[in-house]
Amino acid sequence: MKESKNFIENIIDEDLSLGLEQSLLKFRFPPEPNGFLHIGHVKAICINFGLAEKYNAPIVLRFDDTNPEKEEQRYINAIKDDVSWLGFNWDEERFASDYFEQLYLWALDLIKNNKAYVDSQSSYEIANQKGTPTTPGVNSPYRDRSVEENIKLFTDMKNGLFGEGKHVLRAKISMSANNMLLRDPVLYRVIRKEHPRTKAKWVIYPMYDWAHGESDYIEQISHSLCTLEFKPHRELYNWFLKQIAQPEKTKPKQREFARLNLSHTITSKRKLMSLVKSGAVSGWDDPRMPTISGLRRRGYPPEALQEFVKLAGVAKRENIIEASLLEFCAREELNKTSNRVMVVMDPLKLTITNYPNNEDEILLSENNPENPLSGQREVPFGKELYIEKEDFKIDANKKFFRLTIGKEVRLKSAYIIKANEVVYDDNNFIIEVLCTYDSKSKSGSGSEESQRKVKGTLHWVSKKASIKIEVNEYDRLFENPNPAESESEEELLKMINPNSSKTVFAQAEPSLSKAEIGDKFQFQRKGYFIVDNNKTPLTIFNKTVGLRDNWKK
Ligand code: ATP
Ligand code: MG
Repeated sequence: MKESKNFIENIIDEDLSLGLEQSLLKFRFPPEPNGFLHIGHVKAICINFGLAEKYNAPIVLRFDDTNPEKEEQRYINAIKDDVSWLGFNWDEERFASDYFEQLYLWALDLIKNNKAYVDSQSSYEIANQKGTPTTPGVNSPYRDRSVEENIKLFTDMKNGLFGEGKHVLRAKISMSANNMLLRDPVLYRVIRKEHPRTKAKWVIYPMYDWAHGESDYIEQISHSLCTLEFKPHRELYNWFLKQIAQPEKTKPKQREFARLNLSHTITSKRKLMSLVKSGAVSGWDDPRMPTISGLRRRGYPPEALQEFVKLAGVAKRENIIEASLLEFCAREELNKTSNRVMVVMDPLKLTITNYPNNEDEILLSENNPENPLSGQREVPFGKELYIEKEDFKIDANKKFFRLTIGKEVRLKSAYIIKANEVVYDDNNFIIEVLCTYDSKSKSGSGSEESQRKVKGTLHWVSKKASIKIEVNEYDRLFENPNPAESESEEELLKMINPNSSKTVFAQAEPSLSKAEIGDKFQFQRKGYFIVDNNKTPLTIFNKTVGLRDNWKK
């Protein structure tokens, strides 16, 4: 089957066919280090790194660190960790702040060419003169300052002679341009805040539009891919490039793709930040967060995130992808890769009355039937076991294929048992089920009895050998499929599902005592789980996702 190409690949192919040299292809992923990356960024990462792989071209990880009010070193570190964890390597690591000097020199050139001026109005006044999409704006009274005066003022701005908000540098394009972004956009403003990298060296900082395309140009990026909201910026991007680009150099081409939105969550750093700041979640890596680090802690494998983005597709129109698709991708991947273990979440004691006293045995169970190389593990069996409370019923109807009085079920990788009697406590709660077992029915023993078919198979653990573990179970952070619609932070916080997290204790087969942080398992019949912490008295697991989609109507 011929692999179909997405529209970005078609654009690149066309450029190549029109004479662009393959060796000039170069891509970048340009996050602003003002928060952690989320599932939406995974799409941008997969697109850019994917293209670099496909076309065998270099890729730059560029931190768009032009606003010291919001950016921090710890975000830079987290972004690098996340991109690596997803499985991508970058050829160059760059920072827009490395280009501050060059950007400043180019800004001086613009002034000298009468293409930029210092405006001494307030941001309020400037905004008021912008006009509307149907009416032109009004020229600033400072628009016709002389080149000499502009150079002097701009140099003084740079040298820290002015406080914030006194002056800005604006491009001189046109106040009546149809595209409002071209109505003399601001290039520089004064911010009196230390920058995580350049420290106190600069007090003027370039705006996004001025820094972004010029950084692309400096790095000689061939295709600068961003999300659709930047489409109107393309004209400005090209205008700036026209002012600075040398004819023999590559002029980067900006193209836009649709953002990835995920149902039942939000994909905006600003809103995720408010969840973190308000304490509604435990941090950026709270396992309920749609951040890469949250998804990692939740147990999502990187392959599942990549596959999800692939299935969601590269489109030119925005839409919201169902969270269940992401969960589906996790299940598919984890089913292939995670070892099976038995864990009883809500234990009920089961005693096999005809099993010899003090004669425990070790049974073998397949680690992963999907993976023939995964081998087997030992699981201790004995007279006293735990099964799930919900797997036993006194009053069972015909459709209940689990354990009930007088019926047989198989204990996974063990024997067929039959329930005979129950023991009640003083409050009339069932506290124990008394069974007998068919000693010849051992799984895998090859005996005739072992081939006998019974309707249900239950998981279990040995009462004596099992270990207690702690399990965090999660549900969607928002029950509302589109929390992004919320109009205020307050409204957003009110939408949080109050039952999105609970902690329970469970009894696990002893093999889990050796589990390391990050190990992933299928708890049979229960779902997929990852070790979050094994330094605590009880090993803590996070539930990734159940075996089935519980949200299906
Ligand atoms: P946010 O609005 O969440 O803060 P952003 O666009 O400001 O996101 P950046 O760090 O500037 O975040 O983004 C880095 C790159 O990731 C940009 O090219 C941006 O277009 C892309 N990106 C951000 N969010 C998404 C998304 N939801 N889907 C696809 N790409 C995205
Ligand atoms: Mg941004």
